[in-house]
Amino acid sequence: MQAESSRPEVRLQGIAAAPGVSRGPAYLLFQGKAIVACEKISDVEGEIRRFEGALSSTRLEIAKLRNQVAASLGENEAAIFDAHLLVLEDVALIDDVNKEVRQTGLNIEHCFQEVAQRYIDIFERMEDDFLRERAADIRDVTGRVMNHLLGARPEHKVQSALQQVVVAKDLTPSETATLPTDGVLGFVTEEGGQTGHSAIMARALNIPAVVGVKGLLATVEDGDSVLVDGQSGLVIINPTSATLEAYRGKEIAIQTQRDRVMREISLPDCTRDGHAFAIQANIGGPEDMMGVQEYYAHGVGLYRTENLFLRLDAWPSEEDQFDEYVEVVRQAQGKMVTFRTLDLGGDKRLGDLTDEANPFMGYRAIRLCLDRPDIFRPQLRAILRAAVHGPVAVMFPMISNVEELRQAKHFYHSVMNELASEGVVQSTKPRLGAMIEIPSAALLANHLARELDFFSVGTNDLVQYLLAVDRGNQRIAKLYDPANPAVISTLESIFRAAQRQGISSAVCGELAGDPHWAPLLIGLGAQELSMTPTAIPEVRYVLRHSTHTELKDLVARVQAETDSAVIKKILNDFKLSKLNYH
Ligand code: PEP
Ligand code: MG
Repeated sequence: MQAESSRPEVRLQGIAAAPGVSRGPAYLLFQGKAIVACEKISDVEGEIRRFEGALSSTRLEIAKLRNQVAASLGENEAAIFDAHLLVLEDVALIDDVNKEVRQTGLNIEHCFQEVAQRYIDIFERMEDDFLRERAADIRDVTGRVMNHLLGARPEHKVQSALQQVVVAKDLTPSETATLPTDGVLGFVTEEGGQTGHSAIMARALNIPAVVGVKGLLATVEDGDSVLVDGQSGLVIINPTSATLEAYRGKEIAIQTQRDRVMREISLPDCTRDGHAFAIQANIGGPEDMMGVQEYYAHGVGLYRTENLFLRLDAWPSEEDQFDEYVEVVRQAQGKMVTFRTLDLGGDKRLGDLTDEANPFMGYRAIRLCLDRPDIFRPQLRAILRAAVHGPVAVMFPMISNVEELRQAKHFYHSVMNELASEGVVQSTKPRLGAMIEIPSAALLANHLARELDFFSVGTNDLVQYLLAVDRGNQRIAKLYDPANPAVISTLESIFRAAQRQGISSAVCGELAGDPHWAPLLIGLGAQELSMTPTAIPEVRYVLRHSTHTELKDLVARVQAETDSAVIKKILNDFKLSKLNYH
């Protein structure tokens, strides 16, 4: 531990981005502009060729990094680098740089820096949080190109931050991805939001992080002692011994709880009074399967099959899909894999097919598939062929009425018959389900249940459609409130309908992996919860340390309230009574 500093303690509030508390000396990551000379050149075409060379070296470098991240963290995290590769294909940016060289006759480093900064400035001024955070992507990629132009390759510069807290203006996704998982104690950035890629990565890496800390760089100096509270979003620079003392208890409590949680990771999914539930994993491809085994998931509760399409940025063939699906089924080693059929549209766009004014309410998911048998049938064939190698379930996203479900089932059975006539026999009869994520489907749950083996509730979309709040719009993020009693009673009626018809019900939206919400969901009647694998240990622990009677009582207390703030407090108190991280 560091000795108390002679500099005064300063507390800055930011946005909690990844949980945990850590403390260590600040490692200031300099992300200032590279100092480049500005000089007249005589060989303009030679400069442009150097630029092309730097672009293609950067392309290779990012592709390599992408593969490393896909292998170590999974496809979801690696997808960030696909966005980076797109920056390198940006014709407007490249043309602007070439024009600048031709018009000014100045060296490529100078021209590139000028143009890149203009692009960064434009994105930084955007009102939309999501677009503003893309400035970090451009800074990251253009920084790499500049390194190649200058002949410098500061790869892994963060490696030297072992046992320190990384402090930066904004940590780029590739810097975050190359953080040695066991080495860096935490990170704090002046910019960025919770939807930023760095924050998402920090959560996947389990490194405490706080982002969006105003005034950070003006306050902290290299080597200052920095305490990162990833639970509350507080950053304390040069904490006094009294502050450290107060935090020591918290740190010990967190560490002790973590150890306890991890010790129970392989124990059965059952409450203290014998009520069984099942925890499953959400995956985006074969790379995420490691987490299924590591965290003892019962199986895969949600396989987002559109990820392959987005990764390729093209329509994969039946064979491409089969290769990936069979890999997932094999890696599941006999555990059930729940394939969600293609859910493109909304914020997941591919080409101009889904380019429309109101994409979340538009040509999305099952709507697209029913309209395009040339896309739907090959996918169903690939899934049902993979099912020869292990148990699978198939579920349809965005079902809004019974007719749609019947049409989807018609395709499914016709593909099944076609395959049977080719001699393809599944290892076990696939289970058939639907995502319940549109209010009309929730209201029709009784009817839909008669046609299915299971429901999987997509709370991410269900909340957005019930409350008419775009799930990706930061400006109205406060209104995206799952504790609205309308959401809770809708969930209850879905689970009831499933129970009445004797089918199983799961939740695969983000609420399932939130230890505040999981107890309520099981109390309300959900039988399975599917979540990002790193969320499994805490959820399993909280549920295993509860009785079903307590969960029912929690439901009763929540349902007696109409104020969402009170409901959230009840959920938080319950979580804290099982998992005391605060
Ligand atoms: C959901 O809507 O809750 C869900 C799991 O699907 P996605 O997040 O992929 O839309
Ligand atoms: Mg959804």
